Amino acid sequence: MRIGNLDGRLVILTGAGAIDVERASGGRFGAGPQAVYARWAEFTAWAATAEGSEEPYDAALLGAPSPAPRQVFGIGLNYRDHADESGFGVPDYPSVFTKFPSCITGPYTEVTLPPGGHTDWEVELVAVIGAEGWHVREADGWGHVAGLCAGQDLSERITQMASKPPQFSMGKSFPGFGPTGPWLVTPDEFENPDDLELGSSINGVQMQKSRTGNLILSVPQLVARLSGAVRLLPGDIIFTGTPAGVGQGRSPQRWLAPGEELVSYVEGIGELRQRFTAAPGS
Ligand code: ZN
Repeated sequence: MRIGNLDGRLVILTGAGAIDVERASGGRFGAGPQAVYARWAEFTAWAATAEGSEEPYDAALLGAPSPAPRQVFGIGLNYRDHADESGFGVPDYPSVFTKFPSCITGPYTEVTLPPGGHTDWEVELVAVIGAEGWHVREADGWGHVAGLCAGQDLSERITQMASKPPQFSMGKSFPGFGPTGPWLVTPDEFENPDDLELGSSINGVQMQKSRTGNLILSVPQLVARLSGAVRLLPGDIIFTGTPAGVGQGRSPQRWLAPGEELVSYVEGIGELRQRFTAAPGS
């Protein structure tokens, strides 16, 4: 199943269009997309038998599948090749940071580049939590995931590295720095949800291409690790890490520039599109 956030309303997306959940359920489920994750098992049971009329929709109105998560987890250096290019080396324990939730957006956006910054791209698989979890076993990890979407962990490197130790969360939380979407795909839709191709390109030139099978810590391992410390809440989102090919790892280094378009994709899900603009007066 695919669910989406269509102009702030929760919808089920099929090949034929969008089903408005509040109307199709007679008000049993609310219109807003965020509350559904607290009732995910009940919702998916209803959705499997839902009858409603699909209506054509304007994809430009798609928003973030989980637009106001209480917790956003980011995982640093969770692909071996990216750990190598970053100069940090492959970690024993991939680092965890947050993207403050105000940076989360939908899939198709215009992003203002912080003046004087070095803004970089990081395509990532994003997992959305559908069941509260505390000390979850790895074997039960997928059972706590409502679904997957594509994500961009946009990162302004000067701010990120401005302190010791680095302040990852600050550099990764400028407005618009957390595009997600274009919708949420439930894990059962994938032949193997642990091995999906993902990549990114700028103005049509490929920058990143890998597979989530190369993750150092897989989605269920991340659910187990994170919930070993923090109680996972419905609607929380996990940016699982990025593979090699970011601007910081290139020689010479390369940053996003005004006018450029970044396209990011995850196999079996879809793509994000970001257009970058200069800050006024910069
Ligand atoms: Zn990242």
